[in-house]
Amino acid sequence: MYNTNMNSLLQPKIVLGIAAHPDDLDVGAGGTMARFAAGGADVHYLILTDGSKGTDVPDMTSAELTKIRRAEQQQALEILGGKSVTFFDYPDGELEITMQLKKDIVKIIRTIKPDVVVTLDPSVIYSAENGIINHPDHRAAGQAALDAVFPLARDHLTFPELFADGYEPHKTATVLLINFNGGNFSVDIIDTFAQKRQALAAHASQFGDIGNAPWLRDMAERHAKNTDYELAETFVRIDVR
Ligand SMILES: [Zn+2]
Repeated sequence: MYNTNMNSLLQPKIVLGIAAHPDDLDVGAGGTMARFAAGGADVHYLILTDGSKGTDVPDMTSAELTKIRRAEQQQALEILGGKSVTFFDYPDGELEITMQLKKDIVKIIRTIKPDVVVTLDPSVIYSAENGIINHPDHRAAGQAALDAVFPLARDHLTFPELFADGYEPHKTATVLLINFNGGNFSVDIIDTFAQKRQALAAHASQFGDIGNAPWLRDMAERHAKNTDYELAETFVRIDVR
């Protein structure tokens, strides 16, 4: 099922995806999320910003866009077999790595108690090869999520007011970082690629008609390059000690 140079399979029971915008997790990990769900995992999403900026429709308002994008995310996750989405209200385009953001994420980690967290690799600033400047919200989301996983969610003396409110410390075993340049862990998504395409189609405000858009398949083929798979999603996998 999985090709990994880390020699261990990954069959989580509880997965938490943490990202900046509706669609981030579906683009980077939708096929994998669908696999996890099909394997019996409860898949949850946490979206940190309100997604209120990503449009080129001139008369669209931020409030309207937020509403649309949240509904799209909800629908996309349902297509992938996921369980729940939590939306924070941080303004799109302005996400900063603050203690408040980390604390808000810790609260969710301590509530959901994931064994796998999937988030965005904050070390990706740009990719000259792919002509990409990584969105600063993506970097902030990934950094805050990593900091929340380790050490902030783990120690009861961190945010003692959360502990007092019943948020028990939690250790996440494995982190998968979405890194569009490659990684050390690939997931075969041949069986869930159609679901991924459908989930992205649900994000109609972002992708328009994704029906035959070649980039999605190109990306999956690129990620499968050094594997035995036809289509893959490749991550940086960290098994946290
Ligand atoms: Zn994004």
